[in-house]
Amino acid sequence: MQFVHDTLAQRVRFASGAAAEGLAAEVAALGARRVMVIAGASEEKPAERITAGLPVAHRHHEVVMHVPVEVADRARAAAVERDVDALVSVGGGSTTGLAKAVALTTGLPIIAVPTTYAGSEATAVWGMTENSVKTTGSDPKVLPRTIVYDAALTLTLPVELSVASGLNALAHCVDSLWAPRADPVNQALAIEGAWALGVGLPLVAAEPDALEGREKALYGAYLSAAAFASAGSGLHHKICHVLGGMFNLPHAQTHAVVLPYVLAFNAPGVPGAEQRLAAALDAPSASEGLARLCERLRAPRSLRDLGMPADGIADAAQAVVAAAPAGNPRPVTLDAITDLVRSAWEGTDAP
Ligand code: NAD
Repeated sequence: MQFVHDTLAQRVRFASGAAAEGLAAEVAALGARRVMVIAGASEEKPAERITAGLPVAHRHHEVVMHVPVEVADRARAAAVERDVDALVSVGGGSTTGLAKAVALTTGLPIIAVPTTYAGSEATAVWGMTENSVKTTGSDPKVLPRTIVYDAALTLTLPVELSVASGLNALAHCVDSLWAPRADPVNQALAIEGAWALGVGLPLVAAEPDALEGREKALYGAYLSAAAFASAGSGLHHKICHVLGGMFNLPHAQTHAVVLPYVLAFNAPGVPGAEQRLAAALDAPSASEGLARLCERLRAPRSLRDLGMPADGIADAAQAVVAAAPAGNPRPVTLDAITDLVRSAWEGTDAP
């Protein structure tokens, strides 16, 4: 066995119902005296509650999906004007993303309190949009110093969003098995993450008000993001990035639709990992485990239903082949990717 593995330096606190205590301890540890709290409109109330004991200098509520640059600029200006010394973000990937945009130019430390399963809190990747074009980059400055996970804050996330967001997290696990920097450490995180999501998401769907499923799903979401942050972006994420950009498809739902097809395509190239994923999903094969899970969760089935036009398949396949990551376990040919995208568009059973 030979590998080189980078671990991102970050503290993770995990305790349901304890976000306020966790935040107080982390802000004190940073010695921060002027905190900027970033939370979108729907997270405003819980954010106020869990940050009531902090030295808050500014509350920022303008959060927009995919972080438009003008939104980032206003948040950055507010941070400078109010002379803040730490950022606390309370929300999903869009909120964490805005905090990262502020940290990128100011160097301010972030304490992230995630309320979805997106996983941005565990990566050093930032993203911003300008004129509908999304730019991403990686910078250690934007990695939150601490994540405060409190599953009670996810109880309000509607089931449909929870399922889509959770399958997005599962996609981080699966893609980590063959991504460019896949190694035994991030594979271990990915397999444990897949197990936790496989157990947690059906519980969330069945009993959205119960903490047990929420805790497992959130734990799985963290592991999935830590695996993905280390392994990098594999074929699945390249496909979703191309499709999302070309046809403006919804982020998490696109992942949910495409994942079974990429798994069916790549699984024969990684037999050892496939077996471990199958065991994690408690099924004879990984593909069968994923199909059963998607069925139980009533996950979205086809790209057609998400609004992708049929005449976009050929162009999309070409763009995917051009963007395919080096070292994919199976050759990424135009014929194979055209078949894959067409099957996902139709929503036919993955092979
Ligand atoms: P989101 O943050 O846009 O949230 C989706 C919706 O859910 C919003 O309306 C939000 O207000 C609402 N919401 C959030 N938490 C809630 C809760 N607990 N209860 C009720 N409603 C709640 O969506 P997301 O899927 O979390 O994040 C997607 C964004 O994150 C995308 O822009 C994606 O590119 C980015 N992302 C980045 C990384 C990274 O590493 N940089 C990783 C994953 C996702």
